[in-house]
Amino acid sequence: MITLEKVRRRAESDAKSHGYFLNPDAESLKNLLEGLQKNEERYGYPSCPCRLASRKFEFDRDIICPCDYRDPDVQEYGYCYCALYVRKDVFEGKTSVLPIPERRPFQKQIRSYAASGEGVAEKPSEATTVVTEKPSKIILKMWYCKQCGYVCFREEPPYVCPICKAKREMFAEITIHSDNHK
Ligand code: SF4
Repeated sequence: MITLEKVRRRAESDAKSHGYFLNPDAESLKNLLEGLQKNEERYGYPSCPCRLASRKFEFDRDIICPCDYRDPDVQEYGYCYCALYVRKDVFEGKTSVLPIPERRPFQKQIRSYAASGEGVAEKPSEATTVVTEKPSKIILKMWYCKQCGYVCFREEPPYVCPICKAKREMFAEITIHSDNHK
């Protein structure tokens, strides 16, 4: 079992070697590190705490933290998608953390949903959502962040909202009734 301290030290060391900093907000940082710790325990690798993992290493390779998208995001915006890694000006509070676009290609996101097994079911429960054109009926839950309105499809809400950094508890499930799927 990997300890939270080890996850923290690894992130700190990686940040230092790239000239980055970790999120200066203690609570957000703790949530993100806990998300990484749980994902590593669950999948065997620390997949991004803000994204849905497929549970297949070959599909999740690009979102194993630090993900393939961190450096271009830090360069362009000052922080990664989850805002775990930040630039100096962000660390010092000179630049705010605002929503940034998801750089991960949409096709890869879709593949994660399909491969994860989460959200795949034959029979929707009261609270599940049917969201696919595929004949194999992928049934996904949809969550929205009550703080900023961010919406995502996954079995469980993310540990931290990638947009406003609200905690998991701020996510609520949305039910959509769709009749036009074959
Ligand atoms: S977005 Fe940030 S926290 Fe998520 S995997 Fe990339 S570097 Fe790690």
